[in-house]
Amino acid sequence: MRPPFMPASTALPIWKIHTDILHTLRGGNRLVLVAPTGSGKTTQVPQMLLDAGIAGEKMIVVLQPRRVAARTVATRVAWERETRLGAEVGYQIRFDDHTSVGTRICFVTEGILLRWLQDDRSLSKIGAVVFDEFHERNLLSDVALALVKHLQQTQRPDLAMVVMSATLDAEPVAAYLDPCPILISEGQSFPVEVGYLSMPDQRPITVQAAEAVERILHDEDPGDILVFMPGRGEIQGTLDALRGLRTRERVACIPLHGELEPQEQDRAFAPNSLRKVIVATNVAETSITIDGIRHVVDSGIARVARYDAERGIGTLLLEPISRASADQRKGRAGRTAPGTCHRLWTVISHKDRDERNTPEIQRSDLAEVVLLLHSLGIREAASFDWLDKPDPQAVQRAERLLTMLGALLDADLTPIGHQMRRLPMHPRYSRMLIEASQRGCVADAALCAALVSGRDLLARLDRDDVSTQAAREMFEDSPDSDFITLMRAYDFAKANAFSFDRCRSYGINAQVARQVEQTFQQIMHAAQQIDSQSNSSRFREASRLVSEKSAGLPESAGDHPLSQKPVHGVTVLGGANLSSPKPNEALLRCLMAGFVDQLAKRRTPGKPECDLTDQRTGQLVRESVVTDAAYFVAANLRETPSRQTLLSLATAVQPAWIAEMFPQHLSTTLEHLFDAQNKRVAATRLVRYRDLVIEQKAQQRDLDPVASGRCLAEAHRAGAFDLPLMDHRLKQFIARVNLVHATLPELEFAPFDEAAITTSLARAFTGLTLVKEAQAAPLLPAFHQHLDKGQVSWLDELVPLTLPWSNGGPIKLSYVNDTPEAQVKLQDCFALISHPTLCEGRLPVTLSLHTPDGKRLASTTDWSKFQEREWPKHRQAVAKKFSGVLWR
Ligand code: ADP
Ligand code: MG
Repeated sequence: MRPPFMPASTALPIWKIHTDILHTLRGGNRLVLVAPTGSGKTTQVPQMLLDAGIAGEKMIVVLQPRRVAARTVATRVAWERETRLGAEVGYQIRFDDHTSVGTRICFVTEGILLRWLQDDRSLSKIGAVVFDEFHERNLLSDVALALVKHLQQTQRPDLAMVVMSATLDAEPVAAYLDPCPILISEGQSFPVEVGYLSMPDQRPITVQAAEAVERILHDEDPGDILVFMPGRGEIQGTLDALRGLRTRERVACIPLHGELEPQEQDRAFAPNSLRKVIVATNVAETSITIDGIRHVVDSGIARVARYDAERGIGTLLLEPISRASADQRKGRAGRTAPGTCHRLWTVISHKDRDERNTPEIQRSDLAEVVLLLHSLGIREAASFDWLDKPDPQAVQRAERLLTMLGALLDADLTPIGHQMRRLPMHPRYSRMLIEASQRGCVADAALCAALVSGRDLLARLDRDDVSTQAAREMFEDSPDSDFITLMRAYDFAKANAFSFDRCRSYGINAQVARQVEQTFQQIMHAAQQIDSQSNSSRFREASRLVSEKSAGLPESAGDHPLSQKPVHGVTVLGGANLSSPKPNEALLRCLMAGFVDQLAKRRTPGKPECDLTDQRTGQLVRESVVTDAAYFVAANLRETPSRQTLLSLATAVQPAWIAEMFPQHLSTTLEHLFDAQNKRVAATRLVRYRDLVIEQKAQQRDLDPVASGRCLAEAHRAGAFDLPLMDHRLKQFIARVNLVHATLPELEFAPFDEAAITTSLARAFTGLTLVKEAQAAPLLPAFHQHLDKGQVSWLDELVPLTLPWSNGGPIKLSYVNDTPEAQVKLQDCFALISHPTLCEGRLPVTLSLHTPDGKRLASTTDWSKFQEREWPKHRQAVAKKFSGVLWR
């Protein structure tokens, strides 16, 4: 019998369009359905499809973005159909499967459907897919929609698709699925009176929310109260604050979020003799409907998945909700009667909120999705048929990461990539776990993954926070990895039952530590699932480790953190583990596997400056324990305002590990390097991980004569040594060639620029290795070879080294100042018939005119003009001084 507080399902507004829904689906297999929250979409539509036989004998799958919703809604529908949960109606979420062979309606989270798709590409057992809560635009629901659409267009034209939403602008989805009709049900709602803060309030949001509840209770306005908080921590905080209230009325304070046990979640829905104050995450925004709510208190914030460029992974950030979300929350108060909504922000700041939520696909790390698409044979993630296209750069970044991690090779999924796909987590972590499963340290790797997946465990300390600093140093007992320090700190927090005070004195964030514990358990759980599929004994070993860990830990620690019993194999707590040669190597290798794309090489031993791949550079933070290692991977890359890259969370690695684990990214070359110290060329075999040199070995017997000569020439060009034989004669030669090139381009003399000079020197040095040899090597012949045959002999004609001269025979020409110049006696010039020229008459020689005592008077490139205009100015003085000479 139905309890009296529940309305008959068929009275729900959605039933008014029952026939339209079925008619549309029979006509075309696609439908977009828009109806307000509480209309009956989630609970009724799947039943309508089942009863009308839309899915034939196959299953109807309803996608839910939230696990709590999948479970509670399945329970409700099973109850409505008077069947046992898991029989006709069931649900499956990560780590929890309530289905059977006979299940016809199955509520699942998106990840589950995607997993099914991998196992059975045609979804042969499914007849209809219902996308619920589509307005949330989760990354995975976008992916699922695209894949199901693709499937329907190819192998499964019979597959029915229904997209349901409370707020959606339905047009774009309908256009994307075209042809696809839209059905809209108006539903019913009552007016809700909205109140804002009159001015911003800096106190904790939990305290403000409790006060808002208190005011509602004082007003003696009946009806249950729903408070929205971003997460579990804030929900607990609000409940604590509520307990401190002094109100006449007794109320039932009930938390509601995804991490509660099922029976605890059910308390929110169950009738209560007291007035209910439900403090929930945004699961109560549209996913699930709680009857009897008349008042909403809205914190205005939510945890939102964002791509965190620093860590290179997705994280959850606390952010203001959009105006569209705020309206949904408000609507929860007006479902059965007029209500009130108390917004804990000001009217003015309301306008600053985004109008609606950005689709997650446009703000998210795509590595996991790109890996999934590849496993389904879709190699072109960027050009795939999306509802909203992701940023091509984000796709590229994802593909690059997957390639670096070894999941992709030339856009094909590798065996490691296939294994990684089976783990429901970010590829960095799945790569770490795969490595760990082979090296027998799954629990440690899982803990490391948990340690970086959330906020910072250790608070940043000021320089003058000496006592905490000193306390914390006790965790730093391995110079191999900052992760080991974190693990020690976490062990300490756990051993102290996450006590806030104990943790604080060591600068540990107790709440984060608690969260790490949960994430760790989840990752271990996932690892076990793989175990059951792959039967890897290592995973079994690891899961045993976990159950040991969760058992028998002391409630509180002794005074000294090091007095703790070891919790992890790697954390060296006694002397025993220390003595083994490389206690951490397995774990260090796993960490390297997950962050190998952020490999860094120290420039100078002991200094923080590093080179990274792709010509990046960075600096290791001074807090890191990894002070010596020549190579390390950094789990965190942060850019400072001055565009410097700061590396943190470092783990020391060995180049040999990279060579062994990532051979596909290595290249080996023989290079000739100049050894400045020994003034010689060293033939060197260089091994690079991408563009970063990770191994360097002299190999003189493989020396290549040409490359060696080139290396000496380059070293000279860089100023490493002088060449005495680069003399006046050679410089003249170079200058003459360049002059002909500039004056008579039609003769096609190749000029000597810096590169040509280096090439000629390289020619001269062929086969030499020592600077000494280079300095003694004849150069001119190698420079002659720069010209074509015959061109050298033309030079003497075009740009001769001497100029015929009347008095005393030919005189020298100098070319080194870029113009040909001759030093002549002034008195000789009066015999000139014409000004001397070079290059077939195109280039006048610069005559530097000297008086009989050898002093320079002037220069000219046109003697007759000089004689006419300049000479008269000098004549008198010169004639007077040198009266013995006959001056004209
Ligand atoms: P929609 O998906 O359109 O928001 P639902 O199908 O979730 O609507 O809910 C329709 C109605 O069914 C709700 O308004 C509520 O009255 C009732 N209902 C749904 N789930 C539960 C539940 N777990 N317990 C009690 N009532 C429920
Ligand atoms: Mg719903």
